[in-house]
Amino acid sequence: RAKANGGHRYELFNEPLRRQTRDRLGLRAALRRAVEAGAVTVAYQPIVRVADGRLTTVEVLARWHDAERGDVLPVEFITAAEETGLIHDLGMQVLEQACTQATRWRGAFGAAAPRVAVNVSTRQLLPADFAPRVLAMLDRVGLPPDALELEMTESCAMEPGARVTLERFTAAGVTLAVDDFGTGYSSFAALRERTPQAFKLDRSFVARLPDDRPTDAIVSAVLALAGHLGATVTAEGVETQEQLQRLQELGCPQVQGFLLSRPATGEQIERDWLRRPR
Ligand code: C2E
Ligand code: MG
Ligand code: MG
Ligand code: MG
Repeated sequence: RAKANGGHRYELFNEPLRRQTRDRLGLRAALRRAVEAGAVTVAYQPIVRVADGRLTTVEVLARWHDAERGDVLPVEFITAAEETGLIHDLGMQVLEQACTQATRWRGAFGAAAPRVAVNVSTRQLLPADFAPRVLAMLDRVGLPPDALELEMTESCAMEPGARVTLERFTAAGVTLAVDDFGTGYSSFAALRERTPQAFKLDRSFVARLPDDRPTDAIVSAVLALAGHLGATVTAEGVETQEQLQRLQELGCPQVQGFLLSRPATGEQIERDWLRRPR
């Protein structure tokens, strides 16, 4: 009797843990099927030049709709993809979709067509054949390398194992951007060794504009530093007119966020930004 109760208690105690494990395994299996079926899609979010309000770039964001789970958050399925190694196939699918779309836009809209900024994980940059494969894909779809930007975290940009790959991209004309800048741990020494051409100022800074003095000072300093390094800056997560105005006063060259546009489909980008330029 006591033993049975103990067993029962044990069951209860472990049910959430067990469910978590089952969900994680289920998610991984479903993600594997989705990647094999080519079912991961992408959304595009406008990056806009502050000076004239024109679309310069779209950030490419992976999207996965699972029949059972609904829309799965990128933080969840990208993490799962990194842990399982599926990130290699998923990442190439995202890159190819984005570059195919960008090529079509260049054909239809010429100089008004945006560049594409694609997120990459550290793990993708480690295999020696990553850069050659991406450059061959660009050649195959007909997109010049300078129309592609790769976004990576600070630790990824500074990862020793990624150095050769990153140098090959730079030599080919691909732009390297540091994502979520200000939240990682790049030192000035590291920035001196590997100067990125673009910084994406993390949205946690933008969220505290315009009234927080330290934030204002940090944003000014990042803009000055980037300017002196010959790099551009995109402020992420711009949600209010007040934030946009302060960024403009501080001289931030580019902005991205819900105020300008939510992530959208390729057709929406065409309709709202390319056929009827703002
Ligand atoms: P990220 O690269 O920093 O992308 C920006 C995220 O901020 C996106 O979330 C976007 O929807 C969201 N965002 C944009 N504007 C605003 C705003 O005004 N307010 C707020 N609150 N959020 C805004 P999402 O799509 O959920 O992506 C999350 C992260 O997942 C990305 O952060 C990126 O690190 C990663 N990710 C997405 N797609 C890929 C991919 O294809 N490959 C890899 N390796 N990572 C990806
Ligand atoms: Mg990004
Ligand atoms: Mg970002
Ligand atoms: Mg961010």
